[in-house]
Amino acid sequence: MTSDLVHHGESFDGTPLGFATKSIHLGNGVDAETGAIRRPITLANAYALPYDPSDINWSSSDVNLYTRNGHPNQRYLEAKLANLEGAEDAVVLASGVAALAATFTTVLNRGDHAIFSDTTYIAAYRLLNQILPEKYGIETSIVDTSDPRNIADAIRPNTKLVHIETPANPTLKVTDIEAAAKLAHDAGALLSVDNTFNSPFNVRPIDLGADIVIESLTKYINGHGDALGGAIATRKELTDQIRFTYQVNYGGIISPFNAWLINRGSVTLPLRMRQHNASALAIAKHLESLPQVRFVAYPGLESHPHHDVAARQLARPDAGFGGVLAFGLDTDHDGHNRFVSKLNVITSAVSLGHDESLIVFLGEDDERKYLYPPEFHRGFFRLAVGLEDTDDLIRDIDHALAEAEL
Ligand SMILES: *Cc1c(COP(=O)(O)O)cnc(C)c1O
Repeated sequence: MTSDLVHHGESFDGTPLGFATKSIHLGNGVDAETGAIRRPITLANAYALPYDPSDINWSSSDVNLYTRNGHPNQRYLEAKLANLEGAEDAVVLASGVAALAATFTTVLNRGDHAIFSDTTYIAAYRLLNQILPEKYGIETSIVDTSDPRNIADAIRPNTKLVHIETPANPTLKVTDIEAAAKLAHDAGALLSVDNTFNSPFNVRPIDLGADIVIESLTKYINGHGDALGGAIATRKELTDQIRFTYQVNYGGIISPFNAWLINRGSVTLPLRMRQHNASALAIAKHLESLPQVRFVAYPGLESHPHHDVAARQLARPDAGFGGVLAFGLDTDHDGHNRFVSKLNVITSAVSLGHDESLIVFLGEDDERKYLYPPEFHRGFFRLAVGLEDTDDLIRDIDHALAEAEL
């Protein structure tokens, strides 16, 4: 039977276990009632109270009480994720956006200042650019964090948080996590990193000095395109606050079923990431060689302006640069749509980190277009490379280009 040590990520002699072993065993265990070697899904809303419940704190998250306060399937997944991220603790919420909102609303108070990357997931942009300043009196500065000097220039006496997304969705801009952490810490601020595009298999921001790591579990960590979730990995002092504010009082809890699905999906994270990384690099190189392709943005290409930083940040020798790339065709609006209509294997849909490859046409009327490099302005594709055979994907792209007469 798997020992308790394994459940804490250590082998018999105290050496740390590898990422794959931990992805399988952490958070799993034997069900006390049935002896099943898979933990069950616990779908109850409430748990039996003790004979005398008068001592219970109705807002506590560490006892089984009411599912919004925390539940077993959430905790199993949290134990695994905290370890994979190298964090003291992790809290799992209903979505990646819930994890972003929980971080911002917990760390920032009225009158505080936050600096954030000019290219981020759209909800992070709306929260930091508009909702938190207008409704809650929080000051924010939007800067190109891919050049750390811009972070240094934006620091104010009341700066409490630097939030970066790397690689950034959708332009694949990369930020130097170590440099950002140093600047934040020198100013007495925290650094949060949205690591969704990398997953902890490719990059572990906490090892590079970040204080808070945010993952949309919806993407690579679940990996099967069938459940939403979000995680924040950080110090226990902060996860306690996040549970109290965002989970118990704002209600951002994940459902037990989704926590169970994501825990199951995450078992194969290292295998899947190696395949996403390899296929995306092969496809990026292929696209770069085609005359119909105006530009390709992928941190694994030597032509990417931040390739060296991206390579330096990798967490292990077999890590890579993720499964998402952006590219533009040398055609007009209709030509881009024609190309998509001729794809047979790759599906036109948003999201990423699924088993199937997904493509979406972006940029033409994006409210943040002015923040993107000029080659993105004519419209571009975000291609989330899935787990199909690499050759099938390349042939699908070549066939669609020919059929669309591009
Ligand atoms: C998808 C995504 C999010 C939001 O996650 P949801 O689970 O959809 O709420 C946040 N950040 C990045 C980089 C993403 O790609």
